[in-house]
Amino acid sequence: MRPLSRILLTACLGAAAARGETAPPRRVAAATIAPLASLAAMVAGPEWEIRTIIPPGVSPHVFEPSPRDVRRFAPARLVVAVGAGYDDWVGKLVAACASDAVLHDAGRSVGVVSEDGGDHDGEIGHDPHWWLSPKLAARALAPLAERFARLDPAGAAGYRMRARDGEAALLALDAELTALLAPVKGRPIVGAHNSWAYFAADYGLENGGAIETVPGREPSPRDIKRLLDLVRGRNVRVVFAEPQFPPAAARILASDAGIRVALVDAIGGVPGRADYAAMLRFDARAFRKGLGTP
Ligand SMILES: [Zn+2]
Repeated sequence: MRPLSRILLTACLGAAAARGETAPPRRVAAATIAPLASLAAMVAGPEWEIRTIIPPGVSPHVFEPSPRDVRRFAPARLVVAVGAGYDDWVGKLVAACASDAVLHDAGRSVGVVSEDGGDHDGEIGHDPHWWLSPKLAARALAPLAERFARLDPAGAAGYRMRARDGEAALLALDAELTALLAPVKGRPIVGAHNSWAYFAADYGLENGGAIETVPGREPSPRDIKRLLDLVRGRNVRVVFAEPQFPPAAARILASDAGIRVALVDAIGGVPGRADYAAMLRFDARAFRKGLGTP
């Protein structure tokens, strides 16, 4: 991300000044993306308002916060990040705009760290899209509960109880998705960008490849050639676009290959896929439909 602009820092200071005057009615926490906000809300309970920093439809890989985004986020006492290099910009935002907020690296808490994250016990990978695995998402809840408990010791028992209930709900969701995707096991996913590796591993799908291999970069003719070979060689019938990525490349690949475009969503936060479970159900159904034999 580019350095925070002067206008942003000005907005930041304005927001900080306004904070004392109009204290929000509930405690505020923030998460960088909607599914993470949804996971945090499972643990936080009614005492907290959880805000999402990135508006829907924007790719977090190339996000730059606007002054409006900053104003919404500035009152947060806890900020939850995906981690593993996905939303590193949030560290600067917290330092500049909400310096008394605690930053929680949820990826690190489940064992996902960036390449340069150094030695780490229990490390499971570097791919930041861990929340697309309900099993990994379930692991994020207990550390979140401890984070909330430190900020609000009187509520500790409630946070821990909700984290346990949330884990059970996420494992039930995992079982539901396993059953839903059983008919398309072994089929390759070709997606807009490389976000579905953990999801594919959980449900026995093949992570076939992505149109965009580097965030924010258009695919090269060589990328397209590689995907066309995969599509033809494996009898792929659909390419999965995502709302946060420009649709042109998926359309070009689909029309070159004579296949369809279907939509999946790794970020959600919009009606129909507003919360975590709704988003993953939407995705599992889209994959099942798209990968199924016509
Ligand atoms: Zn991504």
